[in-house]
Amino acid sequence: MKSLDHPVPPGGTIGIVGGGQLGRMLALAAARLGLQTCIYNDTPDAPAFQVTQQAMDAPYDDLEMLAGFAEVCDAVTFEFENLPAHAIAHLAERVPVRPGAHALAMTQDRLTEKTFVEKLGLKTAPFFDVTSADQAREAFAKLNGRGILKTRRFGYDGKGQAKVMSADEAVKAFERFKSAPSILEGFVDFSCEVSVVAARGADGAFAAFDPPENIHEHHILRRSSVPSRLSGAQVEDAKLIAKKIADALDYVGVLAVELFVGRDGALLVNEIAPRVHNSGHWTIEACACSQFEQHIRAVAGWPLGDPSRHADAVMENIIGAEADAWESLAKGGALHLYGKKEARPGRKMGHVTRLKGKQP
Ligand code: AMP
Repeated sequence: MKSLDHPVPPGGTIGIVGGGQLGRMLALAAARLGLQTCIYNDTPDAPAFQVTQQAMDAPYDDLEMLAGFAEVCDAVTFEFENLPAHAIAHLAERVPVRPGAHALAMTQDRLTEKTFVEKLGLKTAPFFDVTSADQAREAFAKLNGRGILKTRRFGYDGKGQAKVMSADEAVKAFERFKSAPSILEGFVDFSCEVSVVAARGADGAFAAFDPPENIHEHHILRRSSVPSRLSGAQVEDAKLIAKKIADALDYVGVLAVELFVGRDGALLVNEIAPRVHNSGHWTIEACACSQFEQHIRAVAGWPLGDPSRHADAVMENIIGAEADAWESLAKGGALHLYGKKEARPGRKMGHVTRLKGKQP
């Protein structure tokens, strides 16, 4: 087992599991710091493969390939959190894995995650465990007429989620999810959604970016804007929520905490993402140190960078066929295209960040 008593020096290799756009932007940030990357992805056409020195294309539960991956890396991290637990354990026996197996396990499952958040004394929407049609019915009766059924695992961008307005609908949604273990959540009539993207270093140092306000369309993030409409006190509270979570998980790396802002101003934790996050892309242009650099710094055991924001910013995702308009998009701000060949509906193809008052 390799140890990380010292920071990974320039020239060292950071392993990244997952080769999508997050892996790609992590690899670019690592390169700027003089670090190499090895990207592990289960298909050969990964966007991150285009920008890395080393790439491995193998299934996520191929233990032999994972051992080979651990061999060439000084530290390993993730761009997505749904790796099977035994595969994470296999990696963690061989190479430092940041964030660790515990943080990943805690956030892979909505029930464990929400229970953990509640135990920390933080607010969430009311939620109930649903493992049978009867439980779906009973849980719905405890809500005030509206809920969202969510599968406990493997949901993203609205997949594995259904809004339900009656006990019958809750049962039907549960059956549509093939009786996968789920939670039924009370529907939150929020005034807006924000997220805190923050980092915790190997030495316990903590640094949060300004929380952006996030607009979703069809369950996919459309736009993140900073500053949000939060008051100064709410911004501090939001950052403290992220710190509490990161400290309790003994977290190393960047994490994102998605929050609902209630009509009474309360901050409710919706979800924790144990990785860099779409709502933090604007940090590349608007902050001294981006979320991607910050994550690489933490994983490599380097001191955290300065998260302060030097401009107002709006980040917009480019989804599906919208990427065909790349020429006009290139005129309007900092354009990022992820190198994906096929523009399927709902697929994130790139994003553009516009700084207020000036163009990067
Ligand atoms: P999630 O996958 O849990 O992040 O949910 C995706 C999006 O669905 C959120 O960003 C909200 O816009 C919406 N949503 C999820 N849960 C709730 C809830 N309990 N009440 C209202 N809207 C929700």
